[in-house]
Amino acid sequence: MTLNQYIRDVQDFPKPGIVFKDITPLLNNPKAVRECMALLVNNLRERNIDKVVGAESRGFFFATLLAYELGAGFVPVRKPKKLPFETISATYELEYGTDTLEVHTDAIQPGDRVLIHDDVLATGGTAKAVCELVEQLGGVIVQCNFLMELSFLKGREKIGRYEVYAPLVY
Ligand code: 5GP
Repeated sequence: MTLNQYIRDVQDFPKPGIVFKDITPLLNNPKAVRECMALLVNNLRERNIDKVVGAESRGFFFATLLAYELGAGFVPVRKPKKLPFETISATYELEYGTDTLEVHTDAIQPGDRVLIHDDVLATGGTAKAVCELVEQLGGVIVQCNFLMELSFLKGREKIGRYEVYAPLVY
């Protein structure tokens, strides 16, 4: 099975000129999901992960599965005003303007070994902001883990000092 066949290119979404990688066909296929999980878990079982952090919202799908597989806790990082308890926030640059992400202050304990997961690494802005949140709470980042990397956007350079892993590269 090639996983690529379950990732659909959608032209001009969410804006004209952008080709969006749609993972919903993959999520719809249990064999493809299993194969993805095997690739994503890779060598992580031996790395004592305490928490898996997923970025809203497409990061949640595989981050919760990874947390379950690794026997770790799941931590949602969300857009502003979505989380009900006390939060900290990180703001990052977009092409036009800025965006903010939040996490609960009690979701990560100092010294927790943290895996960060999102579906796509594009410019790296989202992942970098998630890294900042994890480190503000004293977490130790073990790996930034993505289903796919859009390598032409050079996100890896932005989050360069952390380990980056993505089984599918475009
Ligand atoms: P970045 O912050 O690295 O530029 O963008 C990554 C974020 O935007 C991720 O949370 C990801 O879900 C979303 N994203 C950007 N481009 C795509 C895409 O082509 N497909 C999907 N599924 N998500 C994308």
